[in-house]
Amino acid sequence: MVSAAEARAVVAEIPDPEIPVLTIADLGILREVTIEDGEHLVVTITPTYSGCPAMDLIRSEIAGRLGERGVEDAEVRTVLSPAWTTDWMSEEGRRKLREYGIAPPGATTEDTLGVACPRCGSSNVREISRFGATSCQAQYACQACLEPFDHFKRH
Ligand SMILES: [Zn+2]
Repeated sequence: MVSAAEARAVVAEIPDPEIPVLTIADLGILREVTIEDGEHLVVTITPTYSGCPAMDLIRSEIAGRLGERGVEDAEVRTVLSPAWTTDWMSEEGRRKLREYGIAPPGATTEDTLGVACPRCGSSNVREISRFGATSCQAQYACQACLEPFDHFKRH
């Protein structure tokens, strides 16, 4: 029998299918891991807003990785309320996004307009397209270093 903390450590490393540099823990998709009635392992997840065919992949990945640890009957519980927001993304996740070349979502509402180039840090940027590589991203171009980049939209 694994503990809730051990199970959490296992599933926290699952990469997001759309942005593999981020784990589901970085994104805030992984809400909690608990043990009910002393033996029933429950993993609670909340989908992001991007429609998420990815959630099926994430669910089977959770079951698969826990199965490798001998947990055969884990329940993956999807909770839709409260709805996921980019506020749940960890600082670590924001840093990884920036290193990957994607401008992270602003941490506060005031930051919404403050998109900065992930390469040179310039805020002299221009939106090219409201939709980037995935529906949660927008395409920008930096006017300082002239590089295009994706911005993970605040939600
Ligand atoms: Zn730049």
